[in-house]
Amino acid sequence: MALSEFDLIRLYFSSFQQGSAVVTGIGDDCAELSLSPGHTLCTSIDTMVEGVHFPKAPDVTGLGWRVLAAAVSDLVACGARPVGFCLALTLPHADETWLAAFSKGLAEASRFFAIPLVGGDTTRGPLCLSVQVFGEVPAGKALLRSGAKPGDDVWVTGTLGDARAALDCLENTAFSEAEQVFMAQYYRAEPPLRFSVSLRDIASAAIDLSDGLAADLAHILQASGASAELDVGALPLSAALQDSYSRDVAEAYALTGGDDYQLCFTASSAQREAIFALAAEHNIRCSRLGSVASGAGLNLVRDGAPIDLTHYNNMGYLHFQ
Ligand code: ADP
Ligand code: MG
Repeated sequence: MALSEFDLIRLYFSSFQQGSAVVTGIGDDCAELSLSPGHTLCTSIDTMVEGVHFPKAPDVTGLGWRVLAAAVSDLVACGARPVGFCLALTLPHADETWLAAFSKGLAEASRFFAIPLVGGDTTRGPLCLSVQVFGEVPAGKALLRSGAKPGDDVWVTGTLGDARAALDCLENTAFSEAEQVFMAQYYRAEPPLRFSVSLRDIASAAIDLSDGLAADLAHILQASGASAELDVGALPLSAALQDSYSRDVAEAYALTGGDDYQLCFTASSAQREAIFALAAEHNIRCSRLGSVASGAGLNLVRDGAPIDLTHYNNMGYLHFQ
């Protein structure tokens, strides 16, 4: 590398905004972080490999945002408040144009989610980005996958399927208005962090949507030992998605497309008003999609009538059956 590893870190990663929890940040052997009294540490790591998790010629600034947003999404799923994150960067060479663009997007996300960069690792090799996040929750208050109970409502934040639609235009050089919406969802995901912190005493179970609603909700159901009925007519679809695809494809994208980084959660039906009030307070779209029941598995309905799952299977989209 023309730039030394230490110059690279100093130039592009050492001036991120820090936070009160950071006792020692970048520059020593370990970062030292303090937790609030009575809190436990939540941690999660996410890796993105070029050509697998993002295209070979990405929007590099967007990529900087996305790699952090995807990792923060796991904190959101637990209702954890961010404390800090580490970045393990594997680069083929020290391309300063790339580094400037990447660190810009990363710093924007770091500020937006109020999560400081506290350390990392820099190595040479095929482009690979790994982010480990740290957060805190009051002991015993973390949102888990396992708390859904029969009778609970199933909720989801935001709109679904737009990031999947982005995969259809990712390599384009010019974008329609709708495609710009999809690209923004793909590169600039905003997992609902402050909202999920407020849900800690309201939701019974939660998961973030990284693999697609059907697959991720199935994880809640499996961990909770329950089934759910989900109304496909209630799926939150953006206007851009509805204008660009048939109803069938839009629903399939919303059910099975990944990378939405929205929150799926369950809560007692007694919490409906509280949830709508919170959603309004945080300016978050929140949709009630169905309800949890005893048994196992996910059942789809439209206007109360079961949908034959082969419908989506035949389209090649449904992978959770
Ligand atoms: P060590 O050899 O002790 O593992 P390094 O020389 O790899 O430390 O890193 C020096 C300092 O820079 C450490 O504080 C480390 O956390 C930080 N660091 C290294 N790479 C990055 C990176 N890509 N982003 C942020 N901090 C980094
Ligand atoms: Mg060391």
